[in-house]
Amino acid sequence: MNINWAERMSCMENPAVKAILAITQRSDVISFAGGLPSARSFPVEGLAAAFATVLNEQGASALQYGISEGYEPLRDWVADRVGRQGIRCTAANIIIGNGSQQIIDLIARTMLDPGDYVALENPTYLSAIQIFKGAQARFIPIPLDQEGMRVDMLAEQIKKVRPKFIYVNPTFQNPTGVTMTVERRRQLAQLAAEYEIPVIEDNPYGELRYSGDSLPAVKSFPGGDWVIYVGTVSKIVAPGLRVGWAIASETIIDKLTTAKQLTDVLTNSLTQRALHRFVTDQDLDQHIAMIVKQYRQQRDVMLAAMEEHFPSSVTWTVPDGGMFIWVTLPAIINTNDLLPAAIEEEKVAYVPGTPFHADDSGHNTMRLNFSNSTPDLIRTGVARLGALLKRYLK
Ligand code: PMP
Repeated sequence: MNINWAERMSCMENPAVKAILAITQRSDVISFAGGLPSARSFPVEGLAAAFATVLNEQGASALQYGISEGYEPLRDWVADRVGRQGIRCTAANIIIGNGSQQIIDLIARTMLDPGDYVALENPTYLSAIQIFKGAQARFIPIPLDQEGMRVDMLAEQIKKVRPKFIYVNPTFQNPTGVTMTVERRRQLAQLAAEYEIPVIEDNPYGELRYSGDSLPAVKSFPGGDWVIYVGTVSKIVAPGLRVGWAIASETIIDKLTTAKQLTDVLTNSLTQRALHRFVTDQDLDQHIAMIVKQYRQQRDVMLAAMEEHFPSSVTWTVPDGGMFIWVTLPAIINTNDLLPAAIEEEKVAYVPGTPFHADDSGHNTMRLNFSNSTPDLIRTGVARLGALLKRYLK
């Protein structure tokens, strides 16, 4: 079929990523490639009870259309919960989206014209790159180190080229696991206000902390009015619910609501109400503590196995939370070229680092996921990867 697709479609598609995800579905391959939470962590019974209660007690409203901003009691709950990160807001500052992915897309739709610049960490969340590419944006990639985005370099860059917004994933970043320090958070919020450039603070992993103290959100610092905070229940309850949110000034929420109305009218009413019932009736903190215990062990097993099996020329990040470890290999290795060998020779998979880079760099990097494999599979998979790396680094 010869269809004349819109130009933006070629910007969105990443055939390499599609191919990788297909291969990692093979049952004989141990995959550290996906970004999935562990299905063992899903509170199936609690959600079943919450859905039943909502249908029994408020079935008609739960099956009716609702406002595009989202179910108000759920927005009240979000406003209350983010208070823990120092964010002060009310339901009027919140819109519920169909996952945080939709929120990022709505931001792109409302703010980007073709050719506009977006400043972001290099590397960063690959679907965010694809969404912004789909909006035909150009990029200002900013390096990141152990302390998160190099805000000093961002400051230099935005004096030269003005981005429409700055996208950051400052806590247990996807893909590197790195967390931005308090000082850089403060500087980033200040910079946003000084230059009047919105910051998107994407924080899906912040509640999954295995070591160290929690940090205040970028949005909680002076200048935070310029920050659009993006959250989700995907990693603390379940991604299949598809519930995320944006927290921002009422002006911004109003524009996102217009875009949301036209995209899908509202996020599933029944799910929003059931989720609200779930977080009201159940102890979410206790549930998260259970996930944290499980993932902390998996992180520790992966780090110990890497220490044991990886050649000494390989380095990696030690994340305090989240789901990912980022590996850097000697520059002679191209992880895109190595992946077929990893799968065929060792039956193990990772995600090559290039798609996480808006400038296509990072050929010698890879992302490993530890949330979705048992400790035994992690030990075996890392040993296989170590054997492969030793062979190819000889
Ligand atoms: N942002 C980041 C950084 C992510 O890693 C993900 C998903 N893994 C999302 C947003 C989207 O999450 P969801 O739409 O499930 O809320």
